[in-house]
Amino acid sequence: MKRECSIVRDVLPLYFENMVSEDTATFVKEHLESCPDCAAELEQLKSGREMIQEETPQRKFDANVIAAFKKKIARKILKIVAAVCLVFAVLFSALLLYTGISYPVTKDNISLSTKTDNGYRYIILESKSGKSLCFEGKAEDIMNDHNEVCGQKITLYNLKYHNNFDFTKNANSMSWGIPLNDEHQYQYLELIIELEHDTLQISTAE
Ligand SMILES: [Zn+2]
Repeated sequence: MKRECSIVRDVLPLYFENMVSEDTATFVKEHLESCPDCAAELEQLKSGREMIQEETPQRKFDANVIAAFKKKIARKILKIVAAVCLVFAVLFSALLLYTGISYPVTKDNISLSTKTDNGYRYIILESKSGKSLCFEGKAEDIMNDHNEVCGQKITLYNLKYHNNFDFTKNANSMSWGIPLNDEHQYQYLELIIELEHDTLQISTAE
């Protein structure tokens, strides 16, 4: 490469960008007219810029594709989160249904019955299909008519007049019994459960 060529190549990018003095521009121009190698180098610079300009729409397209892809992923994540929440809600409800009576207690999820056993007459309160009862009363409250079953007030009549009453509590049932041979005037026991829409009532005399 000639020494002149070397100088022209150094300033060619600046010449191409019109960032050289008038004298330099004239010098480069004259050289390019007589030197096909350097002229070819300038052509290469020009085509290089065209390539960059051509790339721009492609880059825009790429950016759009990436943005669309991100949106798609965000939507997918949202869907997955919603699905996971739904699954947990269903599992939680299933767990509640399986382990205990959900509020409120209704006449459809508890039952009352009476039974005579071992010299005692019993009133039995049971949850249906073996679900657990939430019994919030204390043993001493049974005497004071302060019982609650799953948040519902239950009232026992006449139990306090019997000294030898029998109370049994299991996970899904409760029973109150009075001795049959009790000489007290109150020979029967009555249980009343006041629900929101119903009143359940049973008596050992029935
Ligand atoms: Zn040259």
